Amino acid sequence: MPRFQTTAVHAGREDFVELCVHAPPLDLSTTYPVPDLDVGSASFDALVAGQASAPNPIYARLHNPTVARTEGAIAALEGTQACVAFASGMAALTAVLLARAQHGRHVLVVRPLYGTSDHLLASGLCGLEAEFVQADQIAARRRPDTVLVVIETPANPTLALVDIRAVVEAAGDVPVLVDSTFATPVLQRPAALGATYVLHSATKFLGGHGDVIAGVVCCDEAHAAPLRTVRAATGALLHPLAAYLLHRGLPTLKLRVEAAQANAQVLAERLARHPAVARVHYPGLPGAVNGHLVGSQMAGPGTLLAFDVHGGHDAAAAVMKRVQLITPAVSLGSVDSLIQHPAGLTHRVVEEAVKAATGITPGLLRLSVGIEDVEDLWQDLTQALASS
Ligand SMILES: *Cc1c(COP(=O)(O)O)cnc(C)c1O
Repeated sequence: MPRFQTTAVHAGREDFVELCVHAPPLDLSTTYPVPDLDVGSASFDALVAGQASAPNPIYARLHNPTVARTEGAIAALEGTQACVAFASGMAALTAVLLARAQHGRHVLVVRPLYGTSDHLLASGLCGLEAEFVQADQIAARRRPDTVLVVIETPANPTLALVDIRAVVEAAGDVPVLVDSTFATPVLQRPAALGATYVLHSATKFLGGHGDVIAGVVCCDEAHAAPLRTVRAATGALLHPLAAYLLHRGLPTLKLRVEAAQANAQVLAERLARHPAVARVHYPGLPGAVNGHLVGSQMAGPGTLLAFDVHGGHDAAAAVMKRVQLITPAVSLGSVDSLIQHPAGLTHRVVEEAVKAATGITPGLLRLSVGIEDVEDLWQDLTQALASS
């Protein structure tokens, strides 16, 4: 088995010599010729039933070779049999919820989560009843109709870590979904720890350059098939051009994550000593929630950090206005650094009481550290903090 970085460069490119190409072929077809109706009908049945491929792709909502190529590459990095790609991270989560809703109604969820994931679950839009619990309450709250456990680690935006192995054990035979967006397969491989579904907003690190919206679910083939059936029925598919760009980002994933992580550790340590900063949340600092999992569950502390500024909302807003190099914007995992205010933006849809209980305070800023020179980032942060 090649090592991670070799896989990152070569996965999904195994047939290039045979095809006589050096870049992935981009197939933009919406439909495919069906000269043999029997083959066509059998292919249609197979794809609707969730099979990964068929002799005839029939129609691009059922199958696209460029998307399938990218899915294969991501599955190889995550160490799973399969990967199913969607139009966005939210479409990916929706597909899992709809697939699980065939089996029962109850979902156990550990907060905090990405704001829209929290909203989707709390709203019951997919017909499921979400019960929000602490990780150590999962075993006690499991019911016969519990069909899924949802966790996010590191969690957005507080970077709290959740012990995946402990959650899997507490869940028993209930499948566990880990939103591993913040960790990427470079730092964390939840499937190896027993998670059934590994979800990524591929919009973030996997794409890595701020120009693709995409979501993926990595899992075994048995769990992938129902997701493909949902995708074919709901149409939440990834466009082949987006899949192409996503594939293009993979060879540099590890280099980007490691460079950004080195920057993040330096910035977290310096911010922790800055007089304008009340508290820094970063898995690589002493006192981080479940920080002991860095080095075991997670290969490193990651590239995101959050910090509370003295002066609350107005002081945080001032920092967003004053940054010059760092872009004041939501999203994360791009090569450039982004700063945003969770209470005012990404977690706006989360109930006030939940915000308060999970540490999403008025003065909290989340920084997605990029791969710029760390001294330039520090200079920008210190000038932006000087006013607050
Ligand atoms: C961004 C994000 C999502 C949603 O993904 P989209 O691609 O924006 O739909 C889900 N989970 C986490 C942790 C995220 O950061």
